[in-house]
Amino acid sequence: MSLAEPVSTDILIIGGGMVGASLALGLRQSPWQVALVDPRQPDPAALPPVTSAEDFSARVSALSPHSQDWLTRLGVWPTLPADRLSPYTHMQVWDAEGSGELVFDPQGADLHRLGHIVENRVVEQGLWTALEQWPDLTLLSGCRVAAIEQAEPASQGDAEPRWRIQLEDGREASTRLLLIADGARSPTRAMLGFQTRDWSYQQTAIVATVEHDLPHGQTARQAFHRDGPLAFLPLAMPHASSIVWSLDDAAATSFLAADAATQTRRLAAGLGHRLGAVGLVGRVHHFPLQQRHAVHYIHTGAALVGDAAHSIHPLAGQGANLGLRDAAALADILQSAATQGLPLEEPLLLRRYQRARQSENLETMAAMEGLKRLFGSPRADLHLLRNLGLRWFNRQPQLMRAAIRRAAGL
Ligand SMILES: Cc1cc2nc3c(=O)[nH]c(=O)nc-3n(C[C@H](O)[C@H](O)[C@H](O)COP(=O)(O)OP(=O)(O)OC[C@H]3O[C@@H](n4cnc5c(N)ncnc54)[C@H](O)[C@@H]3O)c2cc1C
Repeated sequence: MSLAEPVSTDILIIGGGMVGASLALGLRQSPWQVALVDPRQPDPAALPPVTSAEDFSARVSALSPHSQDWLTRLGVWPTLPADRLSPYTHMQVWDAEGSGELVFDPQGADLHRLGHIVENRVVEQGLWTALEQWPDLTLLSGCRVAAIEQAEPASQGDAEPRWRIQLEDGREASTRLLLIADGARSPTRAMLGFQTRDWSYQQTAIVATVEHDLPHGQTARQAFHRDGPLAFLPLAMPHASSIVWSLDDAAATSFLAADAATQTRRLAAGLGHRLGAVGLVGRVHHFPLQQRHAVHYIHTGAALVGDAAHSIHPLAGQGANLGLRDAAALADILQSAATQGLPLEEPLLLRRYQRARQSENLETMAAMEGLKRLFGSPRADLHLLRNLGLRWFNRQPQLMRAAIRRAAGL
């Protein structure tokens, strides 16, 4: 198709991150014409084999077994390079200022592992490689959406385009259904007038790759400090991890201003020296943390998916997992509508999607908020309570089983 021509499509997805790209692939078997817009360009070069910790990028996600299943259904998981997938079998979570500790063991939940740590770019590249092998997809890459307007329907017919989209390079598209997956700061969510509830955590996530003296033993570790949780996520080399330290803004500023030797000492001490001495590999990145939730995920003829609908604190590593669940749910709803012969304009479809996803996302966000407040509080009574609570919870196999299966998305 000549891209100078306006594109007319049934479903247009804005944003080809993990969520938008997987949603597009989930519609591969549908009878509808699908288009995807993203400013990035496809990169056909395979990632080089991992030879040192420097080969890992700092942005990783802890993907749950449910996310793995979804990417497997899309045919993408088996194509991901094995030397960049790091299974983790256990997780230790403790109060750095007390004695309470939880140890998550997958066997107690009839699982082999809790999930995998994977670089975001590895999943995205796997998805984009699959997208490029789909000849019927219209890939509008290398450009952002500049404007969206509602199209005047020529008739009351079902298959009229509802939206006209203008790209920054002048290309145009029209579509019947608009699916918005352009991330937490979603510029198009605002263009369509979706309301959100936002609040800043006044925390900054510090992200880096590190090496450590002791092997991680495929265990994820998270120490809760009063000024924020520090996670060491095991990479596919025994002495390398990705760290995420969500620190109160003032503490983050002081950490970022320190020299590398001080930073690594603080990281090792922050983890209670459980992995011995720590060394930084490559740059330290930082991201402001904000919680944001769209009041409604749907609008007539449009829906928000992934971080565009909800962005949450990374302390339990659930943002991408929730977004991939949104994508799987919406793709399944649209796919089964096609089987039943329902038109894309059927309002029930998007309502079904919102009902299926909003309450789970809200529950997870509320739980993250509760944990953050519980561990961030200086109150002595809460300090005692959380340590007693952690020790008690660790001895309750049924509750541990339920928590592990919930985090796994099962
Ligand atoms: C420090 C940190 C650690 C995290 N750790 C975890 C974890 O362990 N596990 C987990 O599950 N989650 C984790 N998350 C959350 C996870 O990274 C996000 O939830 C996930 O990346 C969101 O994916 P997305 O596809 O919705 O959005 P994004 O990844 O933001 O993708 C949005 C896409 O939209 C495109 N785009 C933007 N604007 C436009 C436009 N105008 N037009 C067209 N396209 C556009 C962008 O190019 C991009 O490709 C973490 C987050 C942070 C900050």
